[in-house]
Amino acid sequence: MAAALAGGAPAIQVRGVRKVFSGSEGEVLALDGIDLDVEPGELVCLLGPSGCGKSTLLNAIAGFSPPTSGSIVANGRAVTAPGPDRAMVFQEYALFPWMTVEKNVAFGLEMAKVPARERRERVDALLAMLNLREFRDRFPKDLSGGMRQRVAIARVLAIDSPMLLMDEPFGALDALTRRNLQDELLRIWAKLRKTIVFVTHGIEESIYLADRVVVMTYRPGTVKRIVPVTLPRPRDPAAPEFNALKREISQMVMEEQARHAQAEVGGATAD
Ligand code: ADP
Ligand code: MG
Repeated sequence: MAAALAGGAPAIQVRGVRKVFSGSEGEVLALDGIDLDVEPGELVCLLGPSGCGKSTLLNAIAGFSPPTSGSIVANGRAVTAPGPDRAMVFQEYALFPWMTVEKNVAFGLEMAKVPARERRERVDALLAMLNLREFRDRFPKDLSGGMRQRVAIARVLAIDSPMLLMDEPFGALDALTRRNLQDELLRIWAKLRKTIVFVTHGIEESIYLADRVVVMTYRPGTVKRIVPVTLPRPRDPAAPEFNALKREISQMVMEEQARHAQAEVGGATAD
């Protein structure tokens, strides 16, 4: 917000984005009329029930799958393809199984031809930052899910992109590991001040993390409401203010889940 007041350009500018998928079952209007600005250094969560178009929107911002119409500008440039200025973290840990933790983290730096000495320094710093130092010689199969996701984050941070796009990155983890990684993400974000767009269907997760929660409608995906979260960090999910927000947002998500259920029933009777 401060950046906008100071006249700075938003990090991401989504305008009138619409996305139609055509498949064997006809056309699906996945996104319609999406307008969204994300400020530099902001942490925004996209929240909504499964199938509401969160991944579609994130993939459009990443440049993997262009919108059918509308425009997206990221870091001052129209998005037409994936780019190193927009790093993506997926739910499934996209690690190379045949490489050690250290090699996985170093991979992007090798590709970018970063000199060996600098590479080593940066990898060391990232392994330390994510508490992975003692695991540097292990292979992904010998790590827990939480550890693997830490490696995936370290690997993406190595590229040092100003923007992280995260698609339900902690969705497959147990509650405790998830909270740990949320805290690590907040710590890294506070330190590196990257712009983060974080997709989740977890209401508590969105309130725990975000500066603003973008609640999406179900099919077509539109922006239902944008809820600013001004609670100071670290946030306490047991605090009354936290719970008040949780109730407010739950209500919105439940309305959309009901629409989802109706759409499913409608689909079933139409067959
Ligand atoms: P979310 O990430 O919120 O669960 P998605 O963005 O994956 O939702 O999907 C939004 C809608 O678009 C869903 O109805 C889904 O079935 C549809 N969809 C997503 N990707 C494709 C695709 N490649 N082809 C056809 N339909 C798709
Ligand atoms: Mg998704």
